[in-house]
Amino acid sequence: MKILVSGGAGYIGSHLVRELSTQQDYEIIVLDNLSKGHIKSIPNGIKFEKADVRDKKALERIFSEYKPDVVMHFCASISVEESVADPLEYYENNVVGTIYLLQAMKKHNVKYFIFSSSAAIFGNAKKVPITDNMRPDPINPYADTKAVVEKLLAWSENAYGLKYICLRYFNACGAHESGEIGEDHDPETHLIPLILQVALGQRDSISIFGDDYETKDGTCVRDYIHVTDLATAHIKALEYLIRENKSQSFNLGSGEGYTVKEIINAARNVTSHPIQAVVEARRIGDPAVLIAESTRAEQILGWKRKYNTIEDIVASAWKYHKSHINGYNDH
Ligand code: NAD
Repeated sequence: MKILVSGGAGYIGSHLVRELSTQQDYEIIVLDNLSKGHIKSIPNGIKFEKADVRDKKALERIFSEYKPDVVMHFCASISVEESVADPLEYYENNVVGTIYLLQAMKKHNVKYFIFSSSAAIFGNAKKVPITDNMRPDPINPYADTKAVVEKLLAWSENAYGLKYICLRYFNACGAHESGEIGEDHDPETHLIPLILQVALGQRDSISIFGDDYETKDGTCVRDYIHVTDLATAHIKALEYLIRENKSQSFNLGSGEGYTVKEIINAARNVTSHPIQAVVEARRIGDPAVLIAESTRAEQILGWKRKYNTIEDIVASAWKYHKSHINGYNDH
């Protein structure tokens, strides 16, 4: 089976490519414009096309040449702050880019699509844990681009018979067990890499935005899900799509929440570094608690997480960051 992985040189896509490449059944083609991704994250022997999903001619060539059976769509612009500052750019990349990809799929009769959606579509969810059937209520342009694509997929199933799975990731984190690939966003906005930069002496302290929330230690609670567990969920989703020929949407988290202070403490334990933390004002729009209800994905897809403790997750990230002090260093 041939799988086109858009955004496969990015953080989550590269971990999926790594997992898929260990199985015989799949031929992988990575499409990435390398605006944020890293060619070094792709294993040798994997076909790679440097292309932009907004380039219709490039898509036509790639679909004609490789004739994929499935598209896994990771590529997107991913910063909430940037999306607020430049919403048109975000809708162009995340929505228009996806439309072009879906048009190429329709033309070339590719029926299966797996989409990297986000817990962000639920906004300031009024109820936790967040179930798969809760109504999306995005509160920023980035989140809205994901919600719009989810709707687009439902209409495309109705019109063209597309079969898709939307996977709404909660906080993706950690790194491959080998320590060879990991998280290298530019700019880095994710909590665990930022904390580990303190342990590496690259920043003086980590900011805690608000310690007066109604949570056990006053700091925000989030659901952290290991990137390899996200990758295996994609493979389970793919198997389900082929087996059942049925569209679905799933939340992917651990079902457990950790406070910011708990994450910092886990990093202190893993790195044996004191990691200085500084409490600052709350950020606008940060909900106190976001936790996924993921049991439906487990039951329906047969997905099982391998990483169950926050220490294990942080340790895997630390293994990567320790050996890649400046990330992939390829931009
Ligand atoms: P990432 O930035 O590491 O990966 C995105 C990849 O897409 C990059 O390699 C980039 O070069 C590529 N790309 C962007 N625009 C492109 C375009 N127009 N054409 C071709 N390639 C393009 O981000 P990530 O953290 O790996 O996220 C992957 C997906 O998961 C995104 O869709 C993101 O919205 C979603 N997601 C991520 C998280 C998280 O915690 N990281 C949480 C929820 C959802």
